[in-house]
Amino acid sequence: MVSDGTLTPEELAQRAKANGVALWALTDHDELAGQQRASAAAQAQGMRYLTGTEISVTFAGHTVHIVGLGFDAQNTPLQQGLARTRSGRDARAREMAAQLAQVGIQGAYEGALGFVGNPALVSRTHFARFLVEAGHCSDTAEVFRKYLTEGRPGYVPHAWARLSDAVTWIRDAGGAAIIAHPARYKLTPNEEFALFSEFKAWGGQAVEVVTGSHSAAEALRYADTAREFGLAASRGSDFHSPQESHTDLGQLPDLPGDLQPVWELLAARVQ
Ligand code: AMP
Ligand code: MN
Repeated sequence: MVSDGTLTPEELAQRAKANGVALWALTDHDELAGQQRASAAAQAQGMRYLTGTEISVTFAGHTVHIVGLGFDAQNTPLQQGLARTRSGRDARAREMAAQLAQVGIQGAYEGALGFVGNPALVSRTHFARFLVEAGHCSDTAEVFRKYLTEGRPGYVPHAWARLSDAVTWIRDAGGAAIIAHPARYKLTPNEEFALFSEFKAWGGQAVEVVTGSHSAAEALRYADTAREFGLAASRGSDFHSPQESHTDLGQLPDLPGDLQPVWELLAARVQ
């Protein structure tokens, strides 16, 4: 609701509980404004809660997402870092709309804003919803095949936070940093090795192994990466909306038994 999901924190908590979730984290992109409501909603449902966010990072020219869990949501450097990370989104959105206008799609900026809950966080997801609503594509998967991704109309490269900054903000606020859905990035093997090495060197602690964004084979592959780099493992649905997400809350398989779940490192931070 404060980034690109469609449900409220209360609706998400209810859905998570109904699906058997015992420990939940809401991880809005680059934004903490939903944390208090999510924590209260988890408590009301009798679920444990960890604070969460997903920070957009630019690494070797690629956008990489770093999840933070279990941090102090009142931490000032973290809040300021996220505010800086958000600040370029509006100008980027206007450029995206200008590109789409060149291929005959008018009104995309205003259209995307129609789906935005938080004007500081207009994202590609909101453009995707507009493109579907306006009949340019039949679903958001088609949008990301035809538009908004590298080499397609509406893709605007953007400099997000630095990897070192994102990991440091999370760590210094008492949380754990996690590389989100690594199979989604189009990194070369050398770039991927550099990502994991630098992440670990800056104090990053875990990698998302089981996620709605990974196939079973990809989960096995990144379980090996966790072992190789001595990282803990995380599991996340990447659930955005009942209409758009294939993976519902609480429906993913368990982590491989030999890997340490990142929430075990955060036992003292669980609410
Ligand atoms: P942004 O932060 O504005 O670049 O938007 C990122 C969001 O776009 C992600 O959280 C996804 O929800 C969505 N997204 C990006 N690439 C894809 C893709 N290939 N397929 C589906 N959704 C995508
Ligand atoms: Mn993500």
